Amino acid sequence: MPRMNSMHCNALGLDLMPAAGFWTNARRRSILASATLCLALVGFEPYTAAQAATAGSPHQSNQVAHPSNAQLADPKIEAHVDALIGQMTLEEKIGQLVQYNDTVGDAPAMQTSGTPPVADKQAGMDALNPASANHVNAMQLAATGRLGSMLNTVGAERTNTYQHLAVDQSRLHIPLLFGADVIHGFRTIYPVPLGLAASFDPELVVAVSRIAAEEASTSGVRWFYSPMVDISRDPRWGRSVEGAGEDPYLGSAMARAYIRGYQGDDLSKPGNVAASVKHFAAYGAAESGREYNTTDMSEITLRQVYLPPYHAAVEAGAATIMSAFNSLNGVPSSANPFLLSKILRGEWGFNGFVVSDYTAVMELTHHGIALDPATATRKAINAGVDVDMMSHYYDTQLPALIRSGLVPMNVVDEAVRRVLRVKFATGLFEHPYAEGVEVTAAVAAHRPLVRKAAEESFVLLQNDKLADGAQLLPLSSLRKRVALIGPLADNAEEMTGAWGGTPNDRDIITLRQALAERAQQLGGTLLYARGTTIDDASQAGFPEAIQAAQASDVVILALGESSRMSGEGGSRASLDLPGNQQQLLEAVVAAGKPVVLLIFSGRPLVLDWAARHIPAIMEVWFPGTEAGHALVNVLYGDVPPSGKLPMSFPRAVGQEPLYYNQFPTGRPPTGIDLSQPPSGEARFVSRYIDVPNSALFPFGYGLSYSSFSYREVKVSKTSIPLSQALANRSTPLLEASATVTNTGERTATEVVQCYMRNLGASIEQPVRSLKGFERVTLAPGESRQVNFHLGFNELSFFNLESSPTIEATQYTVRIGGSSLANQEASFVVVSPTPGGDSR
Ligand code: BGC
Repeated sequence: MPRMNSMHCNALGLDLMPAAGFWTNARRRSILASATLCLALVGFEPYTAAQAATAGSPHQSNQVAHPSNAQLADPKIEAHVDALIGQMTLEEKIGQLVQYNDTVGDAPAMQTSGTPPVADKQAGMDALNPASANHVNAMQLAATGRLGSMLNTVGAERTNTYQHLAVDQSRLHIPLLFGADVIHGFRTIYPVPLGLAASFDPELVVAVSRIAAEEASTSGVRWFYSPMVDISRDPRWGRSVEGAGEDPYLGSAMARAYIRGYQGDDLSKPGNVAASVKHFAAYGAAESGREYNTTDMSEITLRQVYLPPYHAAVEAGAATIMSAFNSLNGVPSSANPFLLSKILRGEWGFNGFVVSDYTAVMELTHHGIALDPATATRKAINAGVDVDMMSHYYDTQLPALIRSGLVPMNVVDEAVRRVLRVKFATGLFEHPYAEGVEVTAAVAAHRPLVRKAAEESFVLLQNDKLADGAQLLPLSSLRKRVALIGPLADNAEEMTGAWGGTPNDRDIITLRQALAERAQQLGGTLLYARGTTIDDASQAGFPEAIQAAQASDVVILALGESSRMSGEGGSRASLDLPGNQQQLLEAVVAAGKPVVLLIFSGRPLVLDWAARHIPAIMEVWFPGTEAGHALVNVLYGDVPPSGKLPMSFPRAVGQEPLYYNQFPTGRPPTGIDLSQPPSGEARFVSRYIDVPNSALFPFGYGLSYSSFSYREVKVSKTSIPLSQALANRSTPLLEASATVTNTGERTATEVVQCYMRNLGASIEQPVRSLKGFERVTLAPGESRQVNFHLGFNELSFFNLESSPTIEATQYTVRIGGSSLANQEASFVVVSPTPGGDSR
């Protein structure tokens, strides 16, 4: 600390306020529009960050009318940045734009403790990026001011070692920013993001994100590569597990919640971390669900479906954004001025910095838009990528590019400013080192919260009545002999999912452990058999499993994927249970005992057979540190399930991409039984001949141990003048409401959902879209009216000019407990002038 203060004064002698910002966003944009036109005429790329940076004063880009993050636009910070940048050499400036890790050979990237290696051997990195094979020495770079940030270098001792090199030895003593993939918990792990999204509980997401930030910052990490807000409509894409699923409204609510949780209201407060929203943009639309694959879509779909969650995160003040691997309509996201300059900075006023995804700058050569490292570097930085993660291109290529004028100096200066603003805002200059007692294991005080998160994430998919007329769940304590079977029943390692941080397996409570405790309390017996492994061909364990099932009163089957079957590099062409788990399932069911099937997975699976043969099915994702306790609490009814699906579960993989908010078709299969093969006219409608169009379990669906009814679905206005709808963008235009009643016998929570359809617009609109949701807890017999405020954001759509607009059209609102909600009310937006709408 004291060392820092003196450095601080040295480096920042100047304390001048910058001149008041003259340029408004609109003014800048009109200047840029003419610049774009001129350059387009002479054949240059339109709208680049180079132009954005050259169009006015050197740091005018922070002087936007509505900067997305007010803290980063603080004139005091700008004065510090001015003072510092004035002293920096070109090498030191470029240093702020490069990021490396300290991986040695095959060591896991996320090191937890211990001193760093003497020199970075780049084996892992070299394999991905042969151009980096000159063995960058991160320690040397840090000590000489040629490293700005590090990734996945974790642990107080480790980060402090690097930080001391930067702060004590480099000429300007600029601290390093340590970023890490803390995606769903640091030491105390909560459910994977897809599971968290199933809670439909943004406040819960704020709360768990806070504990992750608090825990990780004790180990020196002040920047999370999270949240991943990519919309995913295709569960074959393994990274579906890292996001909030298929819906832009839910995705936006979750995106805002993560930002609030990580960054709080002040980036510099202890325990707060800067977020990196990823992967900008539309990475989730990877064709065929295949990882790193290309994306191609209309601008309307981009803006209406894929961009909203990123925009929501930016509006919530996200300090950084990660540019994606994928190309979008032929232009790689990490060299895409349309995305990074026009939309992100121009339209949204984003004033944080952009970091590339891992070696994404180098990968521009693989995309075929750059034949050499220099071109890749030029394209990336001129498009708006400020920091180069691991490509080893910015440090090697930028000096010559600047000398030749291919990259304007003020583009580099502005990128450096953006990085420094975040470093000042996060308080790194005052507190560069890991502080407080380092959290190295799951925190007891955080367990109740991650347990609650897990309980809220479970989605009860099926709970049929048995022959005795009773539902199987919650489990009756009279079923004394419980058989627990399956490769996920006692598998601590797998409970934390694809990005489970660096938890210690001993911190994790498995289902077997928790069920054994419960069986003891209830005076019952737990029979356990693994049956098979997750991905195995051997049936050697089947007889023991069948025997356990035969000897039981009830079977709990814990089946599903391994955590590595989803997440990065985890795309699958099949959505079936892996290995021979389907055979195990069928063999156990044949034993004739009532079966509860728990599915652990990072994506929707095809559960068609199970849905036809098993009374009780629950999707439990990867629940985290408190997996076992949360599962037992829900299985026995201490806590009723309340999760709803954030992604549709298909009947067959061939339906993918399958999502509820589809566009209509000219030949809807209205009134046709799609469970039967077509005959006659029933063929010439939009359908498959072998499987119904619908999801097996649709978006928003999930059962409870109670039941709910809906009535009085209404809207507060049946007609709204178009002029009013267009003029008023911030306050609600009307309210939609419904009365929901708990018609069952238990207190339970329902996620009340509001969907809307817009008919008659100039652009066709989805058959329904989520426009609001609320979790409501009701006692048996209790009713509540739930209101949804609908305004410009909910009513508008993007037109062919890429502008959000409202036309004089009809709207139908449906409110209920899933995307199948069928009670409705309608209203119209009216224009007094005939033809006053734009149709
Ligand atoms: C992933 C990112 C991650 C980064 C750093 C990349 O391969 O796509 O999501 O943040 O690595 O680990």
